[in-house]
Amino acid sequence: MNILFLGAPGCGKGTQSKILIEKYGIPQISTGDLLREEMGSESDLGKKLKNIMAKGEFVDDELVLSLVSKKIESIECKSGFILDGFPRNLSQAKSLDILLNEMSKSIDHVLFIDVPDEVLIERCTGRLLCDTCDYIGNKDRGENVGDPCPVAKGTLYQREDDKEETVRNRLEVFKDQTQPIIEFYEEKGTLTKLIGGNDPKLLAGKISKIINI
Ligand code: AMP
Repeated sequence: MNILFLGAPGCGKGTQSKILIEKYGIPQISTGDLLREEMGSESDLGKKLKNIMAKGEFVDDELVLSLVSKKIESIECKSGFILDGFPRNLSQAKSLDILLNEMSKSIDHVLFIDVPDEVLIERCTGRLLCDTCDYIGNKDRGENVGDPCPVAKGTLYQREDDKEETVRNRLEVFKDQTQPIIEFYEEKGTLTKLIGGNDPKLLAGKISKIINI
């Protein structure tokens, strides 16, 4: 089962991917996570990525594609994978098609989660991550940067690109670059549009019915 999540930053792709991982054990390939790992190193590439990502701009297609192809070819993705954050433009979508064709694989479901801009901005600017585990905190729940994580021993922090100005830029980039992919997958007949709300479990239930496993 190969699944692709599409949607603007903060739409819930990451949360839904994690629910599917727990439910079905399908591994997630998040290009944002892979790039953040790379960014954490003090290498020249790490510094370059930090600069690009802090502005909410896209990283070079070739680099992202090479990270994704390594993952898809790995043994852990043998029985399926969830793509989160890739492809993000038409050129990446076409490259993914070529890559999957070569491996006699295809995407079974493209799930587009649609959420209004104002909700996305509120979610991204309010979200806090843990530097140790997968916990996602929220300023609306009274949590703050620097608080201890309630799950593990980590500390909560805000992603550099979750500052309001950058989030607005990321939304513009999404409309400009990523929106055209929706049509691309609609024409292939693999796309389902879902309306994202405030209840991740409800959305997860709808997704389970669609993917039917
Ligand atoms: P995300 O965690 O998916 O919101 O991604 C965070 C940032 O990583 C994005 O704003 C981009 O700078 C970069 N990024 C993630 N995925 C891609 C991609 N497929 N192509 C180009 N840049 C990406």
